[in-house]
Amino acid sequence: MPTLYLAHLYAAEMNVYGDRGNVIALRQRCAWRGIDLRVTPIAPGEQHDWSRFDLAFFGGGQDSGQALVATDLFECQGPGLRTAVEDGLTLLAICGGYQLLGHYFLTHAGERLPGLGLLDVYTIAGKQRMIGNIVVESELAGTRVKLVGFENHSGHTYHGPGVRSLGRVVVGYGDNGEDRVGGAIYRNVYGCYLHGSLLPKNPQFTDHLIALALQRRYGSAFPLAPLESDLELQAQQAMLARLL
Ligand code: GLN
Repeated sequence: MPTLYLAHLYAAEMNVYGDRGNVIALRQRCAWRGIDLRVTPIAPGEQHDWSRFDLAFFGGGQDSGQALVATDLFECQGPGLRTAVEDGLTLLAICGGYQLLGHYFLTHAGERLPGLGLLDVYTIAGKQRMIGNIVVESELAGTRVKLVGFENHSGHTYHGPGVRSLGRVVVGYGDNGEDRVGGAIYRNVYGCYLHGSLLPKNPQFTDHLIALALQRRYGSAFPLAPLESDLELQAQQAMLARLL
């Protein structure tokens, strides 16, 4: 049975709007295909060998949760995580986690939380929170998909030339409420503001991440097996019909 290893960064400190559901969706869609996804929660202060992970997930959090983990992320996990990303690790980060993968997050209170700089983005808190349902039109491995989610953030995130955009915001605010950019991509790292949880609502994205991880570990030996997703896709369509 193929096995994949997932690191769940700061599961206790960074989990708002059911972001943990992303890990559950990854594990379940792996299990349905006979892939054993083993999850390792990563808490502040722990040392881990990042070279053994195929996937990583970093959820959103309050500014206070981000302040709790920012230094650990930078000092403790940073070096290993950086190397793993350059080596093709598949990583999904949502909202507060996304912000901490950028260069920095300047909070409301004027505190400058250091980011990893893995993604060429930076974030500045605005006065007004950006809250509501969101639709981002994206292209995943050549297939167009409208991703649905829910956003709630004060941070405005701006992109530098080192990232590609995950997609165009069709409904909602997205990264900064100004340029309709929704999320960033660097190598196999994906950051965006879509809570929801994102992956249970968007099985195409879940499968895209699993396919990337399988490809890296097993090459062509274990291509992603097709999976019936009628119910998930109906739910996604129902949400799109409501919003568009
Ligand atoms: N604290 C950050 C903000 O408000 C992130 C919020 C979140 O992860 N939902 O911008």
